[in-house]
Amino acid sequence: MIKTTFTEEDFVKYNDPKSVMMQLFGVTCSVCGIDEIDYVDEKAPKTLGQIAKEILDEDPEIDDDELNDMIEPQIDAWQELDDYNASIGMPTFLCHNCYTQLINGEISISMNGDIVD
Ligand SMILES: [Zn+2]
Repeated sequence: MIKTTFTEEDFVKYNDPKSVMMQLFGVTCSVCGIDEIDYVDEKAPKTLGQIAKEILDEDPEIDDDELNDMIEPQIDAWQELDDYNASIGMPTFLCHNCYTQLINGEISISMNGDIVD
């Protein structure tokens, strides 16, 4: 099923403390490619920044290797979501502009990720 209409319920505010996802993957807006993400698919798992923060809050002494081991399963979850979204024409990450335009139906997403008027 290809997704063609978008509502506010499709997305939630993006919150990635210390921009961990940006640093690890260079995530960008799925529509226009800028690196100022404001919203994310509401089906998305917790961001890596949120998870890292929770782990560090619990155990501030944890070393990087352990932290990475705990974060890694979540990376797969994000990859799966992004692959799935690509197959249905659903953006995973949105900047403020693209969010507003999508919700207002001013732009739509084609299957190869290009913007279609
Ligand atoms: Zn954008």
